[in-house]
Amino acid sequence: MINENFQEQNLFEKSEVANLWIEVILPLAIPKTYTYSVPSFLQKKIKTGCRAEVVFGKNKKYAGIIKSVGNLKPAYETKDILNIIDDEPIVYPQQLLLWKWISDYYMCSEGEVMAAALPTHLKLSSETILIYNEEYGDDFSQLDNEEYLVAEALLIKKELKLAEVQLVTDTIHVYPIIKRLIDKRVCFVWEAFNEKYKEKKENYIVLNPDYDNDEKLSELLNNSKAPKQMELLLSFLHLIKTQGEVSQSELLKKSGASVAQLKGLADKNILLVEKRSVDRLKSLPKKSDISFELNESQKKALSEIDIAFNTKDVCLVHGITSSGKTQLYIKQIEKFINEGKQVLYLLPEITLTAQIIRRLQINFGGNIGIYHSKFNNNERVELWNKIKTGELKIILGARSALFLPFKSLGLIVIDEEHDPSFKQQEPAPRYNARDTAIFYASLFKAKVLMGSATPSVESYYNALKNKYALVNLDERYGGIKLPEIKIIDTRTVAAAKKGKVMISPQLKAAIEEALANDRQVILFQNRRGYAPFLICGTCGFIPRCENCDVTLTLHKFSNKLHCHYCGNTYPKLPACPACGSVNWIEKNFGTEKIEEELTEDFPNNRIARMDVDAVKGKNAHDTLIKLFEQHRIDILAGTQMVVKGLDFEKVSLVGILDADGLLSFADFRVNERAFQLMEQVSGRAGRKKEQGLVLIQASKINHPVLLFLQEHNYEKFYENEIAMRKQFFYPPYSRLIKLTLKHKLKDTTHDAADILGNSLKKYFPGLVGPAAPVINRVRSMYLMEILIKLSKDAGHIQDQKKVINNYINLLKADKRFRSVIIIPDVDPV
Ligand code: ADP
Ligand code: ZN
Ligand code: ZN
Repeated sequence: MINENFQEQNLFEKSEVANLWIEVILPLAIPKTYTYSVPSFLQKKIKTGCRAEVVFGKNKKYAGIIKSVGNLKPAYETKDILNIIDDEPIVYPQQLLLWKWISDYYMCSEGEVMAAALPTHLKLSSETILIYNEEYGDDFSQLDNEEYLVAEALLIKKELKLAEVQLVTDTIHVYPIIKRLIDKRVCFVWEAFNEKYKEKKENYIVLNPDYDNDEKLSELLNNSKAPKQMELLLSFLHLIKTQGEVSQSELLKKSGASVAQLKGLADKNILLVEKRSVDRLKSLPKKSDISFELNESQKKALSEIDIAFNTKDVCLVHGITSSGKTQLYIKQIEKFINEGKQVLYLLPEITLTAQIIRRLQINFGGNIGIYHSKFNNNERVELWNKIKTGELKIILGARSALFLPFKSLGLIVIDEEHDPSFKQQEPAPRYNARDTAIFYASLFKAKVLMGSATPSVESYYNALKNKYALVNLDERYGGIKLPEIKIIDTRTVAAAKKGKVMISPQLKAAIEEALANDRQVILFQNRRGYAPFLICGTCGFIPRCENCDVTLTLHKFSNKLHCHYCGNTYPKLPACPACGSVNWIEKNFGTEKIEEELTEDFPNNRIARMDVDAVKGKNAHDTLIKLFEQHRIDILAGTQMVVKGLDFEKVSLVGILDADGLLSFADFRVNERAFQLMEQVSGRAGRKKEQGLVLIQASKINHPVLLFLQEHNYEKFYENEIAMRKQFFYPPYSRLIKLTLKHKLKDTTHDAADILGNSLKKYFPGLVGPAAPVINRVRSMYLMEILIKLSKDAGHIQDQKKVINNYINLLKADKRFRSVIIIPDVDPV
């Protein structure tokens, strides 16, 4: 079916002499595709989806993807392509359609989508260059200034030559910087056109076929004068019988024999050594025999999903925390792979833990591939290829797994569909994987199953409007009640204690009780570091970042002040630069400080912290989860990382330390985010044994979100929220496009925003701004924002985007504003 879509494929074999032009997508942030001519000796090899080697600009070479083929001569001079790299297309037509859709919908170029979609090994160029690691994510806060400069340049250009790295860092000694960037996985070095995917080869041992009969073998064994070698041979025979194939390393390990003994048998031509490419993905465990019986509610939900899929393509499961949604996904996945289809299981990056992988492997064994930013290039090459051939049936991955070349996709599962990390922030394409998945699925006529305990307002709205099917699962597996939620009024505590309450006496008592009952505790605070800001107790001076309009966070571990926006660090100031006083007051608290206080308050218990600073290594996150799972940690304090998806047996208490912080963001989604985070983290309590307890510390104790939480009442939350969205014309009633303008000079930024805002206002009367965002300078760039609210009924959304783009181009035509960076963000989260 897929190849039928390549209509052009064989068109030109008939007329070799015809002049051919191809439209090529280059993996760059350039607005258009480019047309090249095809010299006659290459014409036979042209297929859409293959890569062509082309010169772009003065003399830079790229591997571009052939998007279309035609024989109408363009009105302008075209260059010849240099070569065709692939015999067969490396992407399917569905992917090219996906790229086009993303580029249209999210207002970026197809080249930018291509750069994000193709693994680096497929993005080639003729020189040694640095390539930006698309998987690195949006967060540059861990980089120092030099690293950031290179990363930023990489982000915009996608790749840099050494000379360019030297230019941006203003130094010729760039190797250390590059090394650090590679260590941090911001980029790869690529020696293009000669770097090949290196297969891992291993020695396998086979029996010489001459000996492959009982008579010969027993003759050999009985007459041999080398008993050790014969022992080894027996071990080999046993292994080959039980497992089909034996590698050299495995044989030596299991038999305890030496290399010399093996060599002896090989020299006698009894055993043969063969080099075979090892299937790296095969090391996955086999499917286990454990099978789960669904309970009655799950059975009912499952059949509702089946019925829904008869008439609808998208189904939303609203299932409370610990209702067993994963089990429903598993049953659906089984159904589709039994039909020979492939399944994509998307989940937020930080929930892609060993825990969920294990749960799926119990059911699907080695049939499942994991697409993770922590995997290296080679592993991704294999995955890419196995998806493309259809050999691998299930992929579990974060948002970018959407770009894999599925051959026959049947189902996309979107777990925790409400999670904002499905939206990519930096760089383009700023796509939302949840929404994009629905389009991608439609190309295959595949189904989409999304689920959450706290659905996004948009998805729930779509479900109530009958655009999606809605299936409810409102009972916890095992019949345990949702945790009881109590609010602790921090004002009363604060009056007694003076200052911000970190762990109130009530919370402390509850922790003691939980620990005394051999239970575990999770504490959630949405700030990392030690103290989010310092203030001079004498004059009120607050240390701020030089590059950003933010206060600096004190980190005890590094003993430095950190900017969480640009990653810069500053030494701790002994005295106030304004008045010379040494009377610093630490304001507010982050996870580091909580950990410190817990260590003091509970000296006999095991305490751990889970945030991005604490889980840096490849396995640190999983290790921490495992330790907690095995109850080798009593109290886990952390940021969002403790909120998501985890399933622990013995957690009886969850503490939310600063609800006010969650409820005070200046964003129209503030209530939605606060409700989701608090309900999700509450869901970690009392999952297996008895009802849990959640204590929320807040001063705004009558905030409606807290009341909805106490009742675990998503529907009430939704009704309240949707009314506000309607009143203020926010999504899902409108569609938002946010334009961010950035420039080093404040005046230029403001003037550009004013001009653009004024021209757009004529078309979009509901436009908000231009206005400076709360944090109006980041990394030495001034920021301004314009928010456009589009009516959903307007229909001509693409035309409206064209209008916006035209005005952006018009503005950029003015010399003064040429260097203003303008970033359109469609459906910002
Ligand atoms: P959710 O994703 O809805 O929060 P989970 O899928 O994590 O819930 O299920 C909660 C717990 O209940 C998990 O430990 C899971 O293994 C267990 N569970 C759910 N359904 C079943 C079932 N049918 N049989 C056995 N255990 C189940
Ligand atoms: Zn001072
Ligand atoms: Zn900064």
